[in-house]
Amino acid sequence: MIRDALAAVRAQIAAAAVAAGRSPDEIELCAVSKTKPVSSLREAHEAGQRVFGENYAQELADKRGALAELSDLSLRMIGHVQSNKAKLVARVADAVDTIDRPELARELGRRAEAEGRRLRVMIEVNVGGEAQKHGARPDALGAVLDAVTRERSLALDGLMTVPPYTDDPIHARPYFARLRELRDAHGGARALRHLSMGMSHDFREAILEGSTMVRVGSAIFGAR
Ligand SMILES: *Cc1c(COP(=O)(O)O)cnc(C)c1O
Repeated sequence: MIRDALAAVRAQIAAAAVAAGRSPDEIELCAVSKTKPVSSLREAHEAGQRVFGENYAQELADKRGALAELSDLSLRMIGHVQSNKAKLVARVADAVDTIDRPELARELGRRAEAEGRRLRVMIEVNVGGEAQKHGARPDALGAVLDAVTRERSLALDGLMTVPPYTDDPIHARPYFARLRELRDAHGGARALRHLSMGMSHDFREAILEGSTMVRVGSAIFGAR
């Protein structure tokens, strides 16, 4: 089941890439496994999936422990990180895609250094300026970028966003375009390799706007 769903999603990613005039290899798939059991991650891993996204620090830590024998597994934190969880996250995650404030960059940098680890990170941008949503406001992005680049134990992977929800994913495209424009305004693809954007319902639109990493959960693992 998961194997078939993964194959279908990979085929849709490739088709969207071709429609955008891009190479399918440019787009990484992060399989979002939050709330799903360890057996589901194992099944996806057996089907060749290596990169997983988790939203909750403790759940990510538990899955890291349960899957310790899978040395090629990459666990990305894609949920909001409270400062009091920075220590745990710096110890167990391979990447944190939701840095949204300078203090969090400093705290994760300090904790990763103490663990002797190098943490890959992305900055989450609140492109829609929604009050209830996490992520740096576009005009605060420069300050967060500066804070990240000052931390020796953080390696900057790019920018991430979750656009405002719309019934028709076509309306998400301007928000995806906005993240790409922000990337271009802050050093381009050379400085910010990844644009993490696109979920189950809108990853095709995100790929048309330049996404290099899609975060797909329910289309692979079923409804939560
Ligand atoms: C849950 C989640 C996803 C995956 O959502 P689906 O609609 O299940 O594909 C992607 N990104 C983030 C930040 C999430 O919280």
